[in-house]
Amino acid sequence: SIVVTGATGQLGRHVVEQLLEKVPAREITAVVRDEAKAADLAARGVRLAVADYNTPETFDGLFAAGDKVLLISGNEFDKGRPQQHQVVIDAAKAAGVALLAYTSAPGTLTAALADDHRATERALTASGVPYTLLRNGWYHENYTEQLAPVLEHDAVVSAAGEGRISSASRADYAAAAVAVLTGEGHENRTYELGGDEAWSLTEYAAELSRQTGREIVHTPVSTEALTGILTGAGLPEQFAAVLAGVDASIEKGELVVTGGDLSRLIGRPTTPVTEAITAALKG
Ligand code: NDP
Repeated sequence: SIVVTGATGQLGRHVVEQLLEKVPAREITAVVRDEAKAADLAARGVRLAVADYNTPETFDGLFAAGDKVLLISGNEFDKGRPQQHQVVIDAAKAAGVALLAYTSAPGTLTAALADDHRATERALTASGVPYTLLRNGWYHENYTEQLAPVLEHDAVVSAAGEGRISSASRADYAAAAVAVLTGEGHENRTYELGGDEAWSLTEYAAELSRQTGREIVHTPVSTEALTGILTGAGLPEQFAAVLAGVDASIEKGELVVTGGDLSRLIGRPTTPVTEAITAALKG
């Protein structure tokens, strides 16, 4: 079967939804921590497996030989994600799965945020399990789901300067994962996934202005100032610094993804950020 971890997360939900359009529900297994959160999927015939990256034994016997597995990277930054992901890699190896695909970060990204992904990639490629590295670029939603403070102050605050971002929608990245899980010939491949068009936060502010009829500006600040703003807004100091580090990487061009892997895998252009902005303003 096709097995998806993090199935009740935002990316995982898109993946399962798109899988359901391609394969019978009984061939899909959703790995979830909380069964209740996946009741809707079970009702549609998707098989559920309850497991937690922090409890290795919950993965015992979860995979079967020949399964194609999507490991969606976790979001518990303080719990040692490489060790968590290792649990899934070990279980996949023990079972003899046909493929283990992992949602990673762009190869160009040097920010601290990428460390867990690089460590997981090393473990996966060393494991001998047939793998696919889905090096996902930035989501549109990282910005379009954060519009409240932007609209409150008519300002997009960043430490990214004029750096550009090749973002795409979660649904686009999910489509790439689905193409790999349902297609052939993706073993031991690395895909650098990003949107067809890169944009700067100055252009993003201009597009917000155009769509709202207001004057929304990009206010570039230093990484230190951004860290202060984010901690002021209640984020833990360490996480604020990690996010500011991502902006520093954006300024250096590290979230620009070229090569067109994403649109090639999904067989269509990626969703333009302007569309995600329109949807977010309506929502
Ligand atoms: P979400 O935070 O919505 O989903 C994370 C998923 O991981 C959830 O399903 C969660 O389970 C699951 N998870 C977390 N910890 C564990 C655990 N200990 N055991 C089992 N499952 C666990 O993130 P998205 O879906 O939006 O993105 C997927 C991943 O991509 C993120 O986790 C993060 O690693 C990365 N990411 C990428 C971004 C990008 O722009 N490319 C931006 C943000 C994150 P549950 O549903 O039970 O909570």
